[in-house]
Amino acid sequence: MSISRRKFLGWVGAAGLSTTIGKSATAATNKHFTGYPKSFAILHDTTLCVGCRSCEAACNKVNELPQPDKPFTDLSVLETKRRTTTKAFTVVNKYDNSKGSQSPVFYKKQCNHCLEPACASACFVRAFTKTKTGAVTYDSTVCVGCRYCMIACPFEIPTYEYDQALTPRIRKCTMCYPRVIEGLLPGCVEACPMEALSFGKREDMIKIARERFRKYPDRYVDHIYGEHEMGGTNWLYVSGTPFKELGMREDLGITPAPQLTAGALSSVPMIVGLWPVLLAGIYAVSKRKEKIAQTEQEQALTSALDKKRPAESETEEES
Ligand code: SF4
Ligand code: SF4
Ligand code: SF4
Repeated sequence: MSISRRKFLGWVGAAGLSTTIGKSATAATNKHFTGYPKSFAILHDTTLCVGCRSCEAACNKVNELPQPDKPFTDLSVLETKRRTTTKAFTVVNKYDNSKGSQSPVFYKKQCNHCLEPACASACFVRAFTKTKTGAVTYDSTVCVGCRYCMIACPFEIPTYEYDQALTPRIRKCTMCYPRVIEGLLPGCVEACPMEALSFGKREDMIKIARERFRKYPDRYVDHIYGEHEMGGTNWLYVSGTPFKELGMREDLGITPAPQLTAGALSSVPMIVGLWPVLLAGIYAVSKRKEKIAQTEQEQALTSALDKKRPAESETEEES
């Protein structure tokens, strides 16, 4: 870990990072947004990662996710190239080392917490928020389940609870936002026994990465993945192997995703325009149904009472 807990707490307080600002569109609509200046980042140094899956276990625990079919101590799962799921916000995958005889390379995958998140720009109910901490958070209470965020994300991260019939949610790493604003480290960072994960200010993580390149030029590819990809992310990577060989996209360019997805998701603005009308329509129909049901109920009650009253009158007259 790169920072002491005391220093970290100081930053949280000084930067006012326990509050979020603006909804998703704040980040998404500002084309020149380059990230909040005091935001945090996590640096994954794949040259230090041993594929132990402690980060996966910690993530599972802090997010109170169900236990996986195979325990976290079972490293055979590393043989499969896994994606994040609703029950695993992070996965570690194993790759052959292109430097021949050297040990394999492990790459930890999760939401990269883009500086300008495509998921947020595609979400017309603004369920995603780019927070001052750097984390991209999600509010299930406003989500309508359109899954545009899943289409928009260039890293294929958001997952959807298809198995939840009543209240399905989008699920992804939150960069442990609830922990960070409490002054705690992200669960995975805290659990990593190799210090392959470092947490601190984004600018400091970039400095640390550059310092490692300078000190060990033979160990690293001179590239910080996430410094510029898709306009930059709050999750950064350094590696001794070209990122492409780790299944990471190197074709994304440096244009923030919202500017790209504005074209790809050209139907979204239309839906944004139509959505209030649709909602109003659905609301009106449901209200009308309620009104009709109420009227019918009242009519049935009146009719029942009308039928009952003559009978009661007759009974009273007889007595
Ligand atoms: S806990 Fe650290 S060393 Fe272990 S797999 Fe995760 S990142 Fe790699
Ligand atoms: S990686 Fe995908 S889900 Fe995460 S912030 Fe970026 S666009 Fe959103
Ligand atoms: S930051 Fe938190 S939610 Fe994200 S991978 Fe690490 S433990 Fe999981």
